[in-house]
Amino acid sequence: MTLWRRERLPTPSSPSAVADVYIALGANLGDREANLRSALRAIEDGARVVAVSSLFETDAVTPDGSDGPPYYNAACRIETQLEPLDLLRFLQAVERQIGRPPIAKRWAPRLIDLDLLLYESDIVETVDLTVPHPRMAERPFVLVPLAEIAGDIVHPILDRTIADLAREAGDAGVRRITGERWGGLGGDGPG
Ligand code: ATP
Ligand code: CA
Ligand code: CA
Repeated sequence: MTLWRRERLPTPSSPSAVADVYIALGANLGDREANLRSALRAIEDGARVVAVSSLFETDAVTPDGSDGPPYYNAACRIETQLEPLDLLRFLQAVERQIGRPPIAKRWAPRLIDLDLLLYESDIVETVDLTVPHPRMAERPFVLVPLAEIAGDIVHPILDRTIADLAREAGDAGVRRITGERWGGLGGDGPG
């Protein structure tokens, strides 16, 4: 088990050692847009949401070949002082707050799914947390929204930009459906 982290020392432009983090949001049960909206609001209680992608509907794709109702997916960028594992715990608390049971089958349909995609350029490999998210580079439903707000960011293991990875993965099964009032939060908002 390794945990490697670039040190974030306070600098004049970042006096409190805030980390730039990207989160994937997904929902394929209930009122999917409302669930994502509630998640963003709840995240704002513990971090600063500085950018939100468009909203997409995507076909359910799971590594074990099971399918389910289509997802709504989006990505957001946050600034936080939480360390990676504390941030994961915070995101899991938000999932529970929205009604996701604490123990559920992996890849089963869910009211909300919050995955930690990128945490600065950190590489984290622990039992509970792997960052960058280990399956993000092969998932159009992650990369298409993420590329809207993080196209220039370089994946710290693959050493390629998100825009590049998104181009390669394509957009099969991903439909942009941004509602008019989607993402009406602080920050850059939707594209
Ligand atoms: P996938 O990870 O393939 O998208 P999933 O989101 O359906 O699958 P979950 O059931 O939500 O998987 O989570 C299973 C476990 O994954 C969590 O308990 C968590 O500890 C772990 N995990 C590891 N790395 C991450 C990460 N980067 N973001 C979120 N969870 C992670
Ligand atoms: Ca997931
Ligand atoms: Ca998850």
